[in-house]
Amino acid sequence: MQEITAQHFVERLARGAAQARDAGLDALLIAPGPDLAYFADYLPPVTERLTMLVIPSDGAPTTMVVPVLEHDSAAATRAAGSIRLVTWADGEDEHAPLVDQLWSGGRYGISDSAWAMHLLALQHALPDVRFEAFSAVLPMLRAVKDADEIDRLAAAGAAADATFEDILSVSFAGRAESEVAADLDRLLREHGHSHVDFTIVGSGPNGANPHHEAGNRIIEPGDMVVLDFGGLMDGYGSDTTRTVHVGEPTDEEHEVFEVVKRAQQAAFDAVAVGVPLQEIDRAARAVIAEAGYGKHFVHRVGHGIGTTTHEPPYLVEGEEQSVVAGMCFSLEPGIYLPGRFGVRIEDIVVATADGAQRLNNSSRELHIVS
Ligand code: ZN
Ligand code: ZN
Ligand code: ZN
Repeated sequence: MQEITAQHFVERLARGAAQARDAGLDALLIAPGPDLAYFADYLPPVTERLTMLVIPSDGAPTTMVVPVLEHDSAAATRAAGSIRLVTWADGEDEHAPLVDQLWSGGRYGISDSAWAMHLLALQHALPDVRFEAFSAVLPMLRAVKDADEIDRLAAAGAAADATFEDILSVSFAGRAESEVAADLDRLLREHGHSHVDFTIVGSGPNGANPHHEAGNRIIEPGDMVVLDFGGLMDGYGSDTTRTVHVGEPTDEEHEVFEVVKRAQQAAFDAVAVGVPLQEIDRAARAVIAEAGYGKHFVHRVGHGIGTTTHEPPYLVEGEEQSVVAGMCFSLEPGIYLPGRFGVRIEDIVVATADGAQRLNNSSRELHIVS
């Protein structure tokens, strides 16, 4: 796999400036979090001290305001050669070096994750400046991935697939959901993940809650079990769901599973460059509605993934943004029967000129576990 180098950050910063220009913004203000990791290769401790990257849209140098005690870490990133550092020390006005760089009357995009206390201080110092959240003005800022990012998402996906293959041989019946969740956590790390974000194990009626956290329920023979797990590997995310059954499934369980599988395939087949994202949601939803389970598919069909496991683009009714080659997102329809069981199947895919390509390739059949 090609290394992500200083040159990648030169390109990302240039792309950020161009997107700011297209959106009519004077600069992007990037706060600690996934945006900063993406543009500056920098993941500082998230504290009350101000750190902010400023990417001007007019080609002026990119600057990062950092606490003086964090100067050396900020100077040691792969992006450091492209970023001028401005420091402030405890006891000084931390907002002053940032205010110096903003135009009165200007319009700035700011990370959703910027702390309110910093934004409010800036707004107070610059009452005629307009600040806009990235989610409102630049939701697709990091949505289109380059080849190196797609390689990393594919590697994270393969590690999640290997985790699923391994989990099929652990015992389910008689163990608590939380024990199977601990197995998933351990296996993701064994397969190369540095962080585990979630290990959902929804057995029997718990599977009918899409975001059920693994709990104390003891898994029983006859249970459907929804397994949804992922995290970060080499800075990029994985997120996959498979549903397994303890022992032989009933005809109804089989039928519901097959409907979800067909819906997931319909979403996959609907992915093409230029297609509005909401059409992909509709494609999956039509299959489930047709089978009579429409009101039991209670969430959007997918979300983007990159340096985080949930980010734009969102595949949801009302999203008219079209698919662009290089977008990476989940396809995860489900059916949830309250008090009984749930089924979800989720793969990460990348949009290409020839349609979608799956980054999860573990079997999508209904596996019987013991
Ligand atoms: Zn069953
Ligand atoms: Zn998931
Ligand atoms: Zn997901």
